[in-house]
Amino acid sequence: MSEISTRHQTGAPQNLEQRFAARAAGMQPSEIRALFAVASRPEIVSLAGGMPNLSALPMKMMASVVNDLILTNGTEALQYGSGQGHPKLREQICEVMALEGIRAHPEDVVVTTGSQQALDLISRIFIDPGDVVLVEAPSYVGALGTFHQYQASVVHVSMDNDGLIPDALRDAIKTTRAAGRKIKFLYLIPNYQNPTGVLLPADRRTEILDICRKEEIFVVEDNPYGLLGFDRPSPNAMRAEDSENVIYLGSFSKTIASGLRVGWALVPPSLKDKLVIASESSILCPSNFSQMTISNYLADQPWRDQIASFCELYKVRRDAMLQALEEHFPASATWTKPGGGFYVWVNLPPEIDTKLLVPKAIVAKVAYVPGTAFYADGLGSWQLRLSFCHPTPERIHQGVAALGGVIKQEIERRSSNKLN
Ligand code: PMP
Repeated sequence: MSEISTRHQTGAPQNLEQRFAARAAGMQPSEIRALFAVASRPEIVSLAGGMPNLSALPMKMMASVVNDLILTNGTEALQYGSGQGHPKLREQICEVMALEGIRAHPEDVVVTTGSQQALDLISRIFIDPGDVVLVEAPSYVGALGTFHQYQASVVHVSMDNDGLIPDALRDAIKTTRAAGRKIKFLYLIPNYQNPTGVLLPADRRTEILDICRKEEIFVVEDNPYGLLGFDRPSPNAMRAEDSENVIYLGSFSKTIASGLRVGWALVPPSLKDKLVIASESSILCPSNFSQMTISNYLADQPWRDQIASFCELYKVRRDAMLQALEEHFPASATWTKPGGGFYVWVNLPPEIDTKLLVPKAIVAKVAYVPGTAFYADGLGSWQLRLSFCHPTPERIHQGVAALGGVIKQEIERRSSNKLN
């Protein structure tokens, strides 16, 4: 019998769970991942995933960038590179960040495999089991997953339609410290937040920076959507105001191509070496091929115009979604009106459980992500995230109409149950 078939017959080794490290218990599939398999069926309108829409990216142009790179510089592009990232790309990253008011030195930039890897590295450097990480309520599911794996205790801080509330942050710090717990950093997404789409105004940015500086809490500013403002440019990055206490994360996933997997961290100089060492131990170095593709693209192509094309594409979809919500959602629902990014956040009447509603939505051929995915503490049961980035405006309309029908039916069913 071949080794492969023996393995299939015997299954997993005994007591596997006991053999794992304690932190493996935190390695659970996210609710979004489980949804993706269903949501990617062609008959389903997926308002679930946050996949960038690459239909606006001219593929012939990308092919020629890659072709030229390999023909002129293939031996470097296909070789290992620097652990900190390609020097030329790090300079160009500083030019990109200048668009959001950041003045940075390429020496303080560490290129990562998407900003997701930067989140992992920062967590590895800072979090001991039980340490507190403050995050917005709700927050990015991928960050929550990473913090969970490092056994952090996640404390959510309230938001409103203008993002994180400074007074709520003061309260959360006070209560957490009064309970004798250590706060390691505040993680937030100031621009077109995932999952709510809201924008943190400039005055709140300053106030939050002041609080965190005084309280000696690092700010991790995650900014993948900052250049995707549809109606006006976003305010300056928080890092533009504070170079000592902010760890800034950037990404080319939404402005060029997520498949190249290039992001970065801009860190205070005192943290740079730790970050590079941590990164080298996990990946040796980020892909030279991806970095040089992006570097040549930035050097030779009209990348600002390309970002404007992406914004145009997403704005049409945002408008389609907001219009469809007005037309098809019940009067008791409310939602955010994002000025950029990928997402709308919906509040339903509290008796509606959006997780239990997923199978009914799938039958109606529409997928979304239930709100609980974006909280570490089980909240969000009557909320949901809709993403408008990928489907066509017509499909968005169709999907929102179908979901509106499912929600209205559920509200009716509950009120007739109450009457009976
Ligand atoms: N942060 C946020 C808020 C995100 O939405 C995402 C991707 N959806 C990431 C980080 C990770 O992006 P990437 O690794 O592709 O740069």
